[in-house]
Amino acid sequence: MSEYQLPEMTVLELHRLIRRGEVSVEEVCRAFLERVQKVDGNVGAFLHFEAEAVLDEARSRDREIREGSREIVLFTGIPVAIKDVIITRDVRTSCGSRMLQDYYPPYNATVVERLQSHGAILLGKTNCDEFAMGSSTENSAFRPTRNPWDLNRVPGGSSGGSAACVAAREAPVALGTDTGGSIRQPAAFCGVVGLKPTYGRVSRFGLVAFASSLDQIGPLARSVPDAAGMLSVIAGEDPRDSTTTTQPVDDYLSELSKDCPRFRVGVVADWITALADADIRNALENSIQALEGSGFPICEICLPNDQSAIAAYYLVATAEASSNLARYDGVRFGHRSASTTDLESLYRKTRSEGFGEEVKRRIMLGTFALSSGYYDAYYKKASQVRRLIRNDFMKAFQDVDVILGPVTPTPPFKLGEKLQDPLKMYLSDVYTISANLVGLPGLSLPAGFTPGGLPLGVQLLGRPFEENNLLKVAHFLEGALAVEAPPLPV
Ligand code: GLN
Repeated sequence: MSEYQLPEMTVLELHRLIRRGEVSVEEVCRAFLERVQKVDGNVGAFLHFEAEAVLDEARSRDREIREGSREIVLFTGIPVAIKDVIITRDVRTSCGSRMLQDYYPPYNATVVERLQSHGAILLGKTNCDEFAMGSSTENSAFRPTRNPWDLNRVPGGSSGGSAACVAAREAPVALGTDTGGSIRQPAAFCGVVGLKPTYGRVSRFGLVAFASSLDQIGPLARSVPDAAGMLSVIAGEDPRDSTTTTQPVDDYLSELSKDCPRFRVGVVADWITALADADIRNALENSIQALEGSGFPICEICLPNDQSAIAAYYLVATAEASSNLARYDGVRFGHRSASTTDLESLYRKTRSEGFGEEVKRRIMLGTFALSSGYYDAYYKKASQVRRLIRNDFMKAFQDVDVILGPVTPTPPFKLGEKLQDPLKMYLSDVYTISANLVGLPGLSLPAGFTPGGLPLGVQLLGRPFEENNLLKVAHFLEGALAVEAPPLPV
């Protein structure tokens, strides 16, 4: 047995021990598997994992290290949890949906391939809202995930399983996806770091598509340096995703050891005025003060079209979803209804049985928005609004280098609280969706706890492909705030 509290450690700390030979990869993996066995009955972060397969993989990594056939880089031997909308070869990839509950993909997503080529170990697949549609992980067809800080509350969504497993020390890092906030919002609700990269920074090959012009994969981690290290592994051009950029990938982690320039920080006046929750407001004000006190110029900015972001998002995202989800018709992928009589009933029954309520709602909304006669009024109008929002941000980024704001309007809410009211649920994304509509990088950083022990986050947004600056400011703020977490109740 190892004398170290391995599940408490960051990727960087685990890496140091593995590199010096002080712990084996098997010991690291065993420690996290034990945590999963101990707490996941309550938290429900994982949909699938096979302890034996993880340990086999760990032992083969140890063998390679012993024989000198594998160089030890940051992710060598590090167990990584993967959101279940990301394709993993021969490992069930359900997307939280009955439609794909028996789907074993024949290939790996590019991000999975890259992590594995660095020697990372696939720990398991994490729970999420069905096809990543939701803000609480309650839309999973299998079970809800609970917030490790308070089991009566949601972990956020849709990457709720990924955020909860990192918060509960079941995994040191995880991959999530963010179409309208699904990395940043659960990160804030669970008290971990979540980074949505610039659109095009990370390959979407092997990500089961929800809304292709908005989706990005990114890390959920215990610290900013861990997120930076993971971004360097997964980012970069991919010939299999034509929307990836050819811009070179920085060494985000080593950049963090340099001094942080005093970037100009923008705060959105309307966002602060609208903030009704005193704890969230406090966390944000503390962060502003921490930066201002250290010499970062703070400047108020205005985003006049941002108030239309939710409306535009729920047209663009649903339109794209209705088209992307057309492939689940019982012919090629996943579930096929057993009681069909002709082609029409094959489609109808398969889709009625396979999809949950929220997914059906989105397909109907999106199909309506794209239908002839309504296209101009809805989809086209939303695309125009999207451009206006982008113009606002680009104008603001002439005066400031990063934007600091809230991630969510409230701390984590109770399970069931917003389930009957989709609009209320959608409104929990007001501060996160603009980054997706515009394609900006966004980072959610732990900024404190409520007096009742619930995590609070703040958000940093940056110019496209300036993840480096975003991570630097986040790292600075992480040090300045030095958030002390209460003891974890699970
Ligand atoms: N909560 C948002 C939605 O339901 C965002 C989801 C996401 O980012 N995948 O669409």
